[in-house]
Amino acid sequence: MCGIIGYIGQRKTAPILINGLAKLEYRGYDSAGICVLEDQELKTIKKKGMIAELAKDKNINNLSAVLGIAHTRWATHGEPNERNAHPHFDCDGNIAIVHNGIIENHQALKKLLEKHGHKIKSDTDSEIIAHLIEKFYKDDLEEAVIQALNLIEGAFGLAALHKNENRIVVARRGSPLIIGVGDGEMFVASDIPAILEYTKRVIYLNDDELAVIEKDKYQIKKLTGENVDKEIHEIKWTVDQIAKQGYKYFMLKEIFEQPEALLNTLRGRIKENQIKISVDLDITKIKRIIIVACGTSWHSALIGKYLLELITGIKTEVDYASEFRYRQPIVDSDDLMIVISQSGETADTLAALKEAKKKGAKTLGIVNAVGSTITREVDTGIYLHAGPEIGVASTKAFTSQVLALIIFALNTKQNQGEKIDKEIIRELANIPDKISQALKQDKKIIKLADKFKDAKNFLYLGRGFNFPVALEGALKLKEISYIHAEGYPAAEIKHGPIALIDKNMPVVFIATKSNLSQKIISNMQEVKSRNGIIIALVNKGDKDIKKIADHVIEVPETLDEFSPIINVIPLQLLAYHIADLKNLNVDKPRNLAKSVTVE
Ligand code: GLU
Repeated sequence: MCGIIGYIGQRKTAPILINGLAKLEYRGYDSAGICVLEDQELKTIKKKGMIAELAKDKNINNLSAVLGIAHTRWATHGEPNERNAHPHFDCDGNIAIVHNGIIENHQALKKLLEKHGHKIKSDTDSEIIAHLIEKFYKDDLEEAVIQALNLIEGAFGLAALHKNENRIVVARRGSPLIIGVGDGEMFVASDIPAILEYTKRVIYLNDDELAVIEKDKYQIKKLTGENVDKEIHEIKWTVDQIAKQGYKYFMLKEIFEQPEALLNTLRGRIKENQIKISVDLDITKIKRIIIVACGTSWHSALIGKYLLELITGIKTEVDYASEFRYRQPIVDSDDLMIVISQSGETADTLAALKEAKKKGAKTLGIVNAVGSTITREVDTGIYLHAGPEIGVASTKAFTSQVLALIIFALNTKQNQGEKIDKEIIRELANIPDKISQALKQDKKIIKLADKFKDAKNFLYLGRGFNFPVALEGALKLKEISYIHAEGYPAAEIKHGPIALIDKNMPVVFIATKSNLSQKIISNMQEVKSRNGIIIALVNKGDKDIKKIADHVIEVPETLDEFSPIINVIPLQLLAYHIADLKNLNVDKPRNLAKSVTVE
């Protein structure tokens, strides 16, 4: 996830590019760079940090070029620093590229290129594209890009320049790219806000298409060579609407983005029916795992405990980071501490991590923001690759954290010398698609939200893997709708919360199929006989629960241990719609901040 913009025309390109990048900042903001073609020379300026840092550079104003490309980065491989900022170059600095996405086979390609004498200067996966283009370049950038992309596995939105050619070559697979058609000028961008000020006429590139862009013409082809005719669309949205892709709030956009976000978490990590991650850890030396986190990440951690004990047989404990750091925990060198944090900056989690390190534990981070403080402190880690999360209430980070924990647990099992069942791998690969199916319940959930928006309390109940989902459902509701909600293990209600149940109490049961299904039905009966209102989350086609519940929401079936990822989707939607129907600012709930960097 990042922002790309390119311009070719008659105007000075630098201000257009900087302005366009600023409009794309919601897509990523850890470094930015620009490269223009001036007097057959590629001139580049890169800066760590927000676009404002780049815009401040005095040399930007001296660039008079009318052709250039620029990038704002959301790092996936390599720290966010100036060296890793895009554009990247070939050995001789003749070719510049900006890239959005992940090159899955970059390690193998890097080795190959280095064997042929290429010096790779950054830690990014992206730089190898420039070197591959160099390898194939014979006075035709378009041809060289096609040949380079033939070797690439993964996702790309790409724009490339060569110092001897007055054109921009762009291509996409998996990462968005559009062409803006102007009058004697052309634009390319990863999203419309970047160019909306200059033109409203837009062409959407599809996967495996390439375009050659000159100032008054463009040509679009498939990567296999055939020409394609594309329609020009007239854009009617405002910039703000587009940043949210037409969704009213970032949270809703991020809920609907989950199939894609999780596809990115999986990307390159399943190969030939095996899990492939490069976690630097000797699991045979680990006797116990301790997971620490805060908030939503703590709910992922709880699911992680169930997963790790089931799949790896390693004893696993979970702690709130804020408790762990102050309770004189017993930790030693046989322990692995896993820390989970979307931002990688959560103060309590960081402090708990430091405490465990001091006591000799091995450490592993599960983090979304590349290069964040936690990622620099841990011994090893797994990135989520879920893209920036802007809504304060975490959604896609939660599901991708659970997915990362599944990947880690299965990988650990492999490292313990065991084989993973093909069926399990297939089911894992199906998760993004099943999320898409779960999202189809949206309309039904809006109706439910309308019915229950004025409730004063909510109870969420689940068992096993879905007990933490109950906690997460309740947390989502309280943080954005300010309705009091509690999550409980369903069997626990008899020990207290059942006293709260009356005809005004909506009780959300997470009741998808598991070995505890019968037991959860008994828990439902307990609620029903006290006149509670039952909203049940069930698998498609479930008939038994429909007879008891007042309302059902259907989700596709998956393995019980993967089900939290699917089951949380309707709960996110329910919380969102209730808050929205109450006219609350969903993206900025009162008293809350996105990344909690104070203890
Ligand atoms: N994978 C590339 C990198 O880490 C591109 C990331 C992006 O899309 O911003 O540099």
